[in-house]
Amino acid sequence: MDSSNSPGTLYLVATPIGNLDDVTYRAVKILSSVDLIAAEDTRKTKILLDHYNIAKPMLSYYSFNEKQRAPQLIEKLLQGQSIALVSDAGTPGISDPAFFIVRSALEHSIPIIPIPGASACISALIISGLPTDSFVFEGFLPLKKGRKTKFESLRTEPRTIIFYESPHRVLKTLNEISTYFGDRRVVVARELTKKFEEVVRGPVSSVLKELSAKTPRGEYVIVVEGFQDDRHLSAKG
Ligand code: SAM
Repeated sequence: MDSSNSPGTLYLVATPIGNLDDVTYRAVKILSSVDLIAAEDTRKTKILLDHYNIAKPMLSYYSFNEKQRAPQLIEKLLQGQSIALVSDAGTPGISDPAFFIVRSALEHSIPIIPIPGASACISALIISGLPTDSFVFEGFLPLKKGRKTKFESLRTEPRTIIFYESPHRVLKTLNEISTYFGDRRVVVARELTKKFEEVVRGPVSSVLKELSAKTPRGEYVIVVEGFQDDRHLSAKG
């Protein structure tokens, strides 16, 4: 802890998306040196910390307690403590809590430092074979309200589109992609960096056929080819 009047630093530390080897040297150094680790799920983060022999006090910070927890963390930062924020997997703030505390920290002139590392969206994009020069990350689609509007708004999006999806909805989402976007090329990346890593590529019709033959399991990223002028005009719109 810093004994001067200056605030401590908030580090946003990326952690692996499955394979524990995918942590950076710097992440290990920062996690070993901060005063406190704020974790989305302290039990999950403990697995990573134990793997790297890191013993640090932890506090939970997840979407349902972030509004109460953030002011407590800001108070500690203002007292000079350094804090590492981690999510269950990948990069904090990417479909994971962080945005709220980043905004609060900025309001209090608290220094914020990113410790970059894995993120499922970038991992899926770079192996997709779809254009990587320009893309949109949409995260999770709305479950009900706004879902149709979202698909319609993306129908003529020319950039590569990335979605996060759960195993329960992956087939439904692919069916909707087919309905709204036509038979575009898609890439479905499952369990990246893990034992059952699998990547299925092709027109959405053939990907659907292949995936419908088995029970969806694990974590999925869907990467969709952007709108290509008249090639995709047959889609519902
Ligand atoms: N912050 C994370 C990141 O940087 O990628 C994302 C967290 S979000 C709550 C979890 C979603 O990310 C999963 O539902 C899945 O869509 C995607 N995801 C995370 N790990 C994955 C993996 N190993 N393989 C494929 N998708 C993954």
